[in-house]
Amino acid sequence: MSLTNRILIAMLAGILLGSLLSSVIANNATPETLRLFVNDYLVEGLLDVIGRIFVASLKLLVVPLVFVSLICGASSLGGTSRMGPIAGKTLFLYLLTTALAVSAALTIAVVVSPGSDVVLGGEANFQPVESPPLQDVLVNIFPSNPVQAMAEGKMLQIIVFALLFGFAISRAGGPGERLASFFRDMDAVVMKMVEILMHLAPYGVFALLAKLFATLGFTAILDLATYFFTVLTVLLFHALVVYSLLLKGMTGLAPRILLSKMRPVWAFAFSTASSGATLPVTLRTVERRLGVHNSVAGFTVPLGATINMDGTAIMQGVATVFIAEVYGVDLSMTAYLMVVMTATLASIGTAAVPGVGLITLAMVLTQVGLPVEGIALIIGVDRLLDMVRTAVNVTGDSVVSLVVATSEKKVDESVFHDIHADHDGAEAKEFVPPPV
Ligand code: ASP
Repeated sequence: MSLTNRILIAMLAGILLGSLLSSVIANNATPETLRLFVNDYLVEGLLDVIGRIFVASLKLLVVPLVFVSLICGASSLGGTSRMGPIAGKTLFLYLLTTALAVSAALTIAVVVSPGSDVVLGGEANFQPVESPPLQDVLVNIFPSNPVQAMAEGKMLQIIVFALLFGFAISRAGGPGERLASFFRDMDAVVMKMVEILMHLAPYGVFALLAKLFATLGFTAILDLATYFFTVLTVLLFHALVVYSLLLKGMTGLAPRILLSKMRPVWAFAFSTASSGATLPVTLRTVERRLGVHNSVAGFTVPLGATINMDGTAIMQGVATVFIAEVYGVDLSMTAYLMVVMTATLASIGTAAVPGVGLITLAMVLTQVGLPVEGIALIIGVDRLLDMVRTAVNVTGDSVVSLVVATSEKKVDESVFHDIHADHDGAEAKEFVPPPV
């Protein structure tokens, strides 16, 4: 059976087992000892341990992979003058897709009115976290100590350092060439590690989802059904329609192939709810299965995982309309524009970890004068939505990578069209860059 199918089956099995365990724990007729066994030993014990080890082993690859892969990309581009245009196009597309996402979210939410039948009951409680001033955000992109940046996993700082390092390699003559070949070897080895890990994914995904569904309450979804399904609809619309049109229109490549090759990446995004933890798999898929040359993917994918959060912006758009309706606040046209702007910028500042989108939502709400406590209303269903929006976030990174790479003639279309390319860890096809 193919790896993709094994991962998908593991997902389903995890969700089923989790739901079963949840009903065993919640059922009053369950003997106390069985409940204790299921809850303490199985869910909070075994499943928790396997799931956490799986996420940790994904995260451990992020820093070495981003560092090595970006150095390879930057050093192979450094000799040309393409670095600036690639960065410019990437940033523009990331901002554009996010702005489109939040605009669609606002439009659909205004039509659906998800908060119109929700009555405010009791004290909502949410403590917003202060967001740092813009100057600090900008200055903090530049590392004063690259080792510390790596130790703390500060992605933008690592990206800046690796870009500089790679650029210097391309300009350093003989020593640069030797170092470049070392980093290319390192890249092959770290990619191999990702591949090995992907074979363990069915177990990890199973444990993560079983634990989550055993502990997740679903009653919140019933109370917030309109909000939940509105966000879900816009997420699906963006992932299936907007990205497909963008890909087809700007590259001529078949969206169907992209969507089928993204399935394992979605499973990782869905079960970890973190674009950061999914990054090794996204990067590997974009390079080895979608055929994007490392000189583009090495930059666009890690940057996207950090600053491109279309799914998160969608949730923020719908949540803003929802909270405004619940509190009876009429939003003006200017306020909607403010939401588009702030949600787009906030998505840059959203860390690629579970649940952060909710925290940056505070920024958006403050911007348009809505009560931040409103966030407490939607917390109950946020984890499930987080899983789906993370899958949308990583799809956006992959689509933009393909668009930018096509414009730079850095996509190997034969890899893109080969549905078995690198399938199930078969030996990766050697990439032959097309003539520029
Ligand atoms: N979990 C999301 C991600 O990592 C961020 C968020 O929306 O909270 O992409």
